[in-house]
Amino acid sequence: MALTGIQIFKLTPKKNCKECGCPTCMAFSMKVAQGALKIEQCPHLSEEAIASVKEAAEPPMKTIKAGVGDQELAFGGETVLFRHEKTFVSKTRYAVALCTDMEDSVIKAKIQEIPKVDYERIGERMYTEMVYVDCGADADAKTYTALVEKACTLGRILILGCKNAKIAKSALEICKDLKPILNGADASNYQEMSALAAQAGVVLGVSGKDIDEIYDTTAAIEKLGNRNLVIDVTGGSIKETFANAVMIRRGALKEQDRTCGYPSIVNLAKAAKGDHHMQTALASLFTMKYGSIIVMEQMTYAEALPLFGLRQNIFTDPQKPMKVEPGIYLLNGADENSLVVTTVDFALTYFVVSGELERSGVPVNFAINDAGGLSVLTSWAAGKFSGSSIAKFIQEQVEPKVKCRRLVIPGKVAVLKPDLEEKLPGWEIIVGPREAVQLVKFMKEM
Ligand code: SF4
Repeated sequence: MALTGIQIFKLTPKKNCKECGCPTCMAFSMKVAQGALKIEQCPHLSEEAIASVKEAAEPPMKTIKAGVGDQELAFGGETVLFRHEKTFVSKTRYAVALCTDMEDSVIKAKIQEIPKVDYERIGERMYTEMVYVDCGADADAKTYTALVEKACTLGRILILGCKNAKIAKSALEICKDLKPILNGADASNYQEMSALAAQAGVVLGVSGKDIDEIYDTTAAIEKLGNRNLVIDVTGGSIKETFANAVMIRRGALKEQDRTCGYPSIVNLAKAAKGDHHMQTALASLFTMKYGSIIVMEQMTYAEALPLFGLRQNIFTDPQKPMKVEPGIYLLNGADENSLVVTTVDFALTYFVVSGELERSGVPVNFAINDAGGLSVLTSWAAGKFSGSSIAKFIQEQVEPKVKCRRLVIPGKVAVLKPDLEEKLPGWEIIVGPREAVQLVKFMKEM
């Protein structure tokens, strides 16, 4: 927990020498507590005092990174337990599990299946970002490294599920430059695993037979100086896994216990083995509470569409409307003579309507008004998508660039037609359909 001004004041030498730029040590301490000044600005503080203030100022949950280049992802860094308090920071990421115990044909099918889910929704690429490579109990280094090599071809961030340090070392030799997560430390091997992960510069995953063992092992690894960790909260049952995930997150954010302050892995391929429907249902639960990485046996479109949609809703700022840049978007090879279709800048409206317009194949100047990122009816009700605002936008932004004088407005604001006809002389105002799904037929008939 961050120190108060009084607590920081107790650490100062109380010389009131003004060398920090403040008239007194107390004034300096207050400014440090507010984050306005850095503790190092007092030259008379001991190294221990500086270290303790810095440690106290660290966020309760660490941000951990894995992967390289464009593939690098951040996990954790959360500051609140509930989305209504503040925006969640790092999205839950999904991994598909491969295991040395699987038949070659199954592994091959999964490797072919993973890249198939790759699409865009509201400007965000949706795909399986991670692959969990599990080392079965009977696997040797050769079998495991062969599977890791195959997984590397997918170009996803790997999680090496391996508790055998010797085998893990062989696997890291192949993929350490891709900065995978080595999920292999437990009470029996944490020293060896921590050294291995630190040497390879990768994140270490910590697991245990119960929450106490997970906690003690994490604390022991921290004592070794390794804080580049994630906590595998997967327990012996679904109930225990959920309890572990909640306790770890509450420990970090509510109790401010930094040993709990790491992102989590929830392995549903283990907790609900063989039950794909249950895994999907649980993945939605752990997306909300509190899985940083969720491992599943498969991620086809059947799992991806609801999960990625849910994730997109959870990990956005509820106070900030999702909007696109107002302006003219040329669809289907539109030019200055093409029809003008207008709507609001709410991102979901833009992507749904532009998708249908593209499907129609009709060249369109898609004119997006600045409506404060609200939907059609909401912005109309708020006065942000009115006859005046649309007319102003058309006159200032569209008329200088487009010769066509036919404007399609959303069917839900058909009431604006007379006002627009008055404010935009020379324009033919056409009322479009109420629903985007009717646009293809409407455009083709026009
Ligand atoms: S430099 Fe340090 S000792 Fe001097 S007034 Fe500032 S806080 Fe106090």
